[in-house]
Formats: sequence, C-alpha cells, structure tokens
Amino acid sequence: MNLIILGPQGSGKGTQAKMLAEKFNLEYFEMGRILREVAKLDTPLGRHIDETINIKGQLVDGKTFGEVFNAKLREIPEERGILFEGVPRREDQLYYFEEKPGGFKRKIDAVIVISLPEEESIERLSKRRVCKENEHVLIMGKDVKSEKDKCPICGSEIFQRIDDTPERIKTRLGIYHNDTKAVIDFYRQKGILIEIDGRPSIEEVSEDILKKIEKLNF
Ligand SMILES: [Zn+2]
Repeated sequence: MNLIILGPQGSGKGTQAKMLAEKFNLEYFEMGRILREVAKLDTPLGRHIDETINIKGQLVDGKTFGEVFNAKLREIPEERGILFEGVPRREDQLYYFEEKPGGFKRKIDAVIVISLPEEESIERLSKRRVCKENEHVLIMGKDVKSEKDKCPICGSEIFQRIDDTPERIKTRLGIYHNDTKAVIDFYRQKGILIEIDGRPSIEEVSEDILKKIEKLNF
C-alpha cells in the first residue's frame, strides 16, 4: 500500500503520518525533512536547496525536486509500501508520482488531505519549536516552558523555525492552498481522495482517517 498525506502547516499531518506509517508498516517519506538534510550538505545541490528553502523561504524547483525525490526513492525496496508526507505539493510534481516504465513503479492507493482554518494553523504553529538534533516537535507552554529549555526527548537545544513565525506562516498557507489545488482535484477525480477535518483531537482525526481508508477497500 502506498499513501500520500497532505495538509497545511499545523494541520497535524506529521503526527498522523507517523501513526499511519507505523500502523501499516510503511516507509515514512517526509520530503521536507529530506530536503532539509540535503540543504545541510556543502555541495552545489545542498547550497542551492539551502538558499531556496532556508533563505528565500520558497519551494524548490521541479528539477531539484525530481533529483532529490528519485535519489531517495531508489534507496527503498520496491516491495515496501511508502507513506509520502507533503508531496506532491504542486501540479508539476504529479509527474513524479505517475507509474511509468523506468520511473515511478508504485500505485498510490489513497491521498489523505487534512484541512484546517487559517487562524487555527497560525495559533498552533506559533507555539511550535523543534530540537536541533532530531527535529522533535515540541509545543511551547506544554512540552517546553522557555526558549532556553532543552528537548525533553533527546536533550538537544530547541529553536523556532524561521518558517514558523506568523508572517511566514500566512505566506506559506497562501502558497499551500494555491499549489495544492490542482493536486487535490487530480486525486479527487481519480476517486482516491480522503478529506479530513483537522480540528478535532489527534485521536479523533486518526480514527476518522482509518475509517475512511477502510472504506476504500483495496
Ligand atoms: Zn530532541
């Protein structure tokens, strides 16, 4: 089984993705994290991605996306199911998810889209911190109490991603809705789109997703 999960920033798609990957024993393919890893490398590709995502705060171009995506995909055995998080993000990325000889050989079984109102996204994201070593996601006021606290899971320092400031969040949400519209329409027409309200608790959202996956009966 191969799944895709999409949703705006703060929709909880990361949490749901991890739970789904575990439940169905799928490889967790988090494109954002993969790109951030490559961006740390002192190579032409690494520097290009760093400049695009960390300095300009933009999405990588189609060619760069394809290069990183395909390289990562080759590391995963074909018989192993994958859960793709956050991609395809744009219409031009759909190309990389189409079954074709010598290319992508997987069938996407379901595409889960979690929705969340903008105010709710901003409210949730401005409280988000991550740790430097493992990108553990921590909530200010709950998991940590001050910016000087260390990660309660691994002990490394915490910080707020530049992307998680209100100004950046608004811009990113606008881009997200604009970009994903065509992708969502595409999978809706294929009849494999699962639409989820992201407002309830993590557990309720998770239950809703599982129920709707079962209904698609593979
Ligand atoms: Zn940590």
